[in-house]
Amino acid sequence: MATQAWTMAPARERKPNRDCKGADNAPSRDRKGADQSASRFRILGEFAGLIGLPTSEFVLCLSSNTGIIISMSDNFAQNVKQVADWLHRADRVAVMTGAGVSAESGVATFREAGGLWEGRRAEEVATPEAFRADPESVWRFYKLRRTGLLECRPNPAHEALAELERICANFCLITQNVDDLHRQAGSQNLIELHGNIWIDRCWDCDRQERPEQVSEEPIPRCSACGGMMRPGVVWFGEMLPPEAIDGAQSAAAQADVMLVVGTSSLVQPAASLAMVAQQNGAKVVEINPEATPLTHSADLVIAEKAGIAVPAVLEALPSES
Ligand code: NAD
Ligand code: ZN
Repeated sequence: MATQAWTMAPARERKPNRDCKGADNAPSRDRKGADQSASRFRILGEFAGLIGLPTSEFVLCLSSNTGIIISMSDNFAQNVKQVADWLHRADRVAVMTGAGVSAESGVATFREAGGLWEGRRAEEVATPEAFRADPESVWRFYKLRRTGLLECRPNPAHEALAELERICANFCLITQNVDDLHRQAGSQNLIELHGNIWIDRCWDCDRQERPEQVSEEPIPRCSACGGMMRPGVVWFGEMLPPEAIDGAQSAAAQADVMLVVGTSSLVQPAASLAMVAQQNGAKVVEINPEATPLTHSADLVIAEKAGIAVPAVLEALPSES
């Protein structure tokens, strides 16, 4: 399967309001081919990005408008229970997370960062071209990010997802995050679509290393060939690792339930995975305090912070599941 470069929808295309409906209106969906998902997206092609964050303008063409919107004020507990029931009956569970799942750990989301990092646009630091032109400057940027992340710890959402993996027989956690917090929380069957900021990868021989601390060298060197190391994240305009996107597509297509947590559902190809899951019969649940392009097609939406909603779902699972 061909990999795809990261893309992102422009703010003006984001879907506006979410209305509140009852869970009983949840539509049943037939299994359809995963390949239909591609037709739902129209790539336009204008960049805006962040850390290891290649983005290009695209519009989600979502035909469905039948999502169920839930918040703390309207039946939070009842609908958390609904999600727990779906999970309990599911053979296969997939979870997709984005920057929002780490917000409560103190890691800024893309939107919070305003598309800037240390006052610089992502395109200035998160591209192969930028690295070729000035590797030392790119490394300064990533070393600052690594140093900042040393202060961040997994939050209750990361921990609840790690626990959910221990409970569910077939569980796959797909993350767009590069911050390593899912791994630190104990998640194991983890697909890091956009890489991991703590990995160094050789520019010349592709060897990967995980340094124990933030390097003091201006440009870390490969222990095998002496070449320049680069951060192991997927940069703007780069392809996703084929095994990562293939694994994620497969987990989404096979899932009976897919939780989509803390992502603006704007970055492709990650955003299309929920559609792949739904078109193959999965219940798609969005957990996000803000509306996204996914909101109106999700089977159920919990408009709440991940650190509250995910542990609540875990808590609501029947004990024998
Ligand atoms: P995004 O910044 O575009 O969107 C974040 C989403 O999280 C928003 O929809 C917001 O409403 C939601 N959110 C904020 N706080 C939340 C909370 N407490 N609980 C649940 N949801 C919350 O992030 P994205 O969709 O992940 O896309 C941006 C890209 O940048 C991705 O590739 C992402 O992984 C990367 N990024 C990664 C990190 C990280 O590794 N922690 C940080 C910033 C950006
Ligand atoms: Zn090397």
